[in-house]
Amino acid sequence: MTDAVVVGSGPNGLAAALTLARAGLRVEVFEAHERIGGGLRTEPLFDSEVLHDICAAVHPMAPVSPFMRSLDLEAHGVPLLHSPAAYAHPLKGRPAAVAWRDLDATCAELGGDGRRWRRLMLPLMERSADVVELMLSTQRTSPNPRALAVLATRLPAQALRVGGDLRTEAARALLTGVAAHGIGRLPSPASAAVALLLGHLAHTTGWPVPQGGSRAVADVMATQIQRLGGRIHTGVRVDSLQDLPTRRLTLLDISPRELARIAPLPDRYLRTLSRYRYGPGAAKADFLVEGAIPWADPRVSRAATVHLGGAHGTAPELAHAETATARGRSTPHPYVIVVDPAAADPARAVRGRRPVWAYAHVPHGDTRDPLPMIRAALESHAPGFTDTVIAERGMPAARLGTYNPNYVGGDIASGAMTLWQTLARPVPHWNPYRTPLPGTWLCSSATPPGPSVHGMCGYHAARAALATWPEAARAAAVRLGQGDRTLEG
Ligand SMILES: Cc1cc2nc3c(=O)[nH]c(=O)nc-3n(C[C@H](O)[C@H](O)[C@H](O)COP(=O)(O)OP(=O)(O)OC[C@H]3O[C@@H](n4cnc5c(N)ncnc54)[C@H](O)[C@@H]3O)c2cc1C
Repeated sequence: MTDAVVVGSGPNGLAAALTLARAGLRVEVFEAHERIGGGLRTEPLFDSEVLHDICAAVHPMAPVSPFMRSLDLEAHGVPLLHSPAAYAHPLKGRPAAVAWRDLDATCAELGGDGRRWRRLMLPLMERSADVVELMLSTQRTSPNPRALAVLATRLPAQALRVGGDLRTEAARALLTGVAAHGIGRLPSPASAAVALLLGHLAHTTGWPVPQGGSRAVADVMATQIQRLGGRIHTGVRVDSLQDLPTRRLTLLDISPRELARIAPLPDRYLRTLSRYRYGPGAAKADFLVEGAIPWADPRVSRAATVHLGGAHGTAPELAHAETATARGRSTPHPYVIVVDPAAADPARAVRGRRPVWAYAHVPHGDTRDPLPMIRAALESHAPGFTDTVIAERGMPAARLGTYNPNYVGGDIASGAMTLWQTLARPVPHWNPYRTPLPGTWLCSSATPPGPSVHGMCGYHAARAALATWPEAARAAAVRLGQGDRTLEG
């Protein structure tokens, strides 16, 4: 008999496994794919030396998430690397809008909106620790009042108006491009929260990429789990919880749909789960390119992350595209995120060949090959891009859902990011991680605080599970009291 089994080795599964292993439990992880990591895989797709991130590439949560900080990535040989600008937003026929790491430099370029950008971001930056604590919480504890105060004066404007109080085209587009990371209707409360969180982090801890690609982060977690005696099995798709070894705790880094498929759930809970909604899809393109991306505005090449969308890149066009996509309609110029990791980590380009990663927001379950659409978006702001492409591949949203069962219909957030589902994912319950099955907990991004690579869903779920095992929790507390730093986080 083992103490705990974790199904799925995405960042949340690995975070749950590590949290339990740090508490002294014997843990076994079962992963369907041949490689660990879920959204944290990096592979050589076209050239054996050039590595492409298959899913997550940029990690704004890594420097701020309490769980990620507990990994001490830098000490394990995985520094987080930054491009001079966190993100950029090309505008057709005009200079691009750029969010430099430096707030002053950003404001200086935003003309009339420089003052308003500072007024929006500076208080968030000064209260960053509080804002992050609130946003990465279980959403079930009493909210941090300092975070509430700073958000309450900013969130409504962003939630009601595209670009909030900003007036210039450049600043409005810059912020709307961040809000669109929320994958859903624009404007909306959920996208406003995303804009404020990611927007201010661009000027504090930044939007870094891990040296060598995202898989390095998964490898650090796996090494720490194994060092604490944990075991990881890959290539095992769990089809029934009954197939797992006898254990006291089960943590599931899976989607609610997969939970319903593999667990003998009571009808009432199944009915509640069936009301869980999945959102729009992501359709991904990978390119191997020769040389730098020929952006029309060369300042864009200073950013590892670039937002595109609409025919001209304006905020209203983006909002229109996102809202249409959320309603299931395809648009000719969808929102596209482009990542050029070599802008932050030059070693990712080998002999002048670099990986370029991009995905478009598309309707749920979309089966279209995104390559023509994404290539056209890039070509429009970087004329000649197509000529730099040596190799490419497209992954429709529907196929992303087959690649990873957590991304139902290509929904990389593992559940629509509506206001209701942001707060009540996966079910409206005081303990969102608990399932009706004894000792069985959901820990994927379908639980709070939701998507992105922060590991906090796994961490919170593991803590909730440990709280039901008083002896284990007590033993962990004693070791922590004795200065055992492996338990921290
Ligand atoms: C194209 C793309 C780009 C993204 N870009 C970013 C980014 O730049 N930055 C960022 O922060 N986030 C990004 N994300 C989102 C991020 O990857 C996810 O939010 C995150 O990986 C969710 O972690 P998770 O552990 O909940 O699930 P996942 O990472 O999806 O891991 C779940 C794991 O469980 C396994 N699994 C599922 N069911 C079973 C089963 N029955 N048996 C065994 N194993 C099972 C899956 O194979 C998978 O490995 C991106 C996602 C995608 C798809």
